[in-house]
Amino acid sequence: MAHKFIVVGAGIVGATIAYHLARSGHTVSVYDSGTPETRATHSSFGWINASFYIDANHHRLRAASLESWRQLQHDIQSESIRWPGCLCFEHSGDQLEAQYNALQTLDYECEIMTTSEIRALCPNLPTLPTTALWLPQEGVAQSDRLTSELLHAATRAGASLNTPHPVERLLERNGRVCGVQTTLGSEEAESVVIAAGVGSEVLAKGIGVRLPMLSRPGVLLRTQPVAHVVDPIMVSSEMEFQQLPDGRFLAPTAAGHQSDESETLDDLAESTAMGLRTLRRLTGLDQLELEHAVVGWRPVPEDHLPVIGPGGVEGAYFAVMHSGVTLAALIGERVAQELSGQESSDLQAYRPARFIAS
Ligand SMILES: Cc1cc2nc3c(=O)[nH]c(=O)nc-3n(C[C@H](O)[C@H](O)[C@H](O)COP(=O)(O)OP(=O)(O)OC[C@H]3O[C@@H](n4cnc5c(N)ncnc54)[C@H](O)[C@@H]3O)c2cc1C
Repeated sequence: MAHKFIVVGAGIVGATIAYHLARSGHTVSVYDSGTPETRATHSSFGWINASFYIDANHHRLRAASLESWRQLQHDIQSESIRWPGCLCFEHSGDQLEAQYNALQTLDYECEIMTTSEIRALCPNLPTLPTTALWLPQEGVAQSDRLTSELLHAATRAGASLNTPHPVERLLERNGRVCGVQTTLGSEEAESVVIAAGVGSEVLAKGIGVRLPMLSRPGVLLRTQPVAHVVDPIMVSSEMEFQQLPDGRFLAPTAAGHQSDESETLDDLAESTAMGLRTLRRLTGLDQLELEHAVVGWRPVPEDHLPVIGPGGVEGAYFAVMHSGVTLAALIGERVAQELSGQESSDLQAYRPARFIAS
């Protein structure tokens, strides 16, 4: 049976949910407060991976999302996702071995590469490790472009996109959320999906729901284009980097950005300059020039795990997460299924209710 839904947020998570809801025959209105520049999605590195994870359940969710992305990429004919694999040398020695063993136990495809295999994979890079983990299934999305493709596909399937129109508050009647108050006026729906990234906490608070979020700013560097030197996604202990098909490099300034604990950005100019120096050294490209550095606020719930599901007040459904680029494909599918009446067992660990009890 078709229903009416409102999705708050047109980043990669809201866009994917809107796409799946509209494709399932529902009536969908999407509201977003800003231009793409205000989104975490805009400053994302875009690495789609399951080698970073918090526990086995979280790993399985991420690994399943890799499959969902391949299907979704095909369905919307996206040109914004590549699958070059990832060379990970964040750890060495026993730690690398332990990382490998843990991923093997989880049945995740990976191998330890020798020096000569690494050199064959990245013949143009001067600074290479002696051993590394090769993760052949992992990919990378140009997340902003992918989000636009998803929003276009959602609107082709009937969704309406209202931007820039902030949702000022969620409307309640008879103890349930029944719509939104926006700068355009009010609109009613059977359920409202809150996929507003770091803006979700304040919307939740407005209906008395506790959704504690951490402050996790990140900086993404983008260089001017240069001749092609490297294919895989590179994850070192100093920095992650990738080269786009157009020759530009992308790199977050913090190593291990998926577990970066910094709460503030003290000196943007200094961390940008340091990041560029590291990138030049790792690529051997002294001539690399910065095109721009963009700051984004990662939507990280207090316990680092995704928040997905109905919460607190009937009619409100939350979808807030870090590593949202990795997870959006699976979460979009699952949220549309749940809102169509089919509960997902793999989302039970991520319900917003865990914060209400704490
Ligand atoms: C530097 C950096 C690197 C990253 N690298 C990776 C990576 O390699 N892999 C990965 O998987 N993830 C990565 N992430 C995380 C990932 O980008 C985010 O988890 C993901 O983009 C979140 O998407 P979202 O749609 O939930 O939020 P957002 O992209 O932030 O979108 C939320 C939207 O909601 C809108 N909004 C907010 N409040 C309101 C309101 N009241 N009314 C209407 N609209 C509202 C905002 O305008 C915004 O457009 C990275 C993030 C950063 C910052």
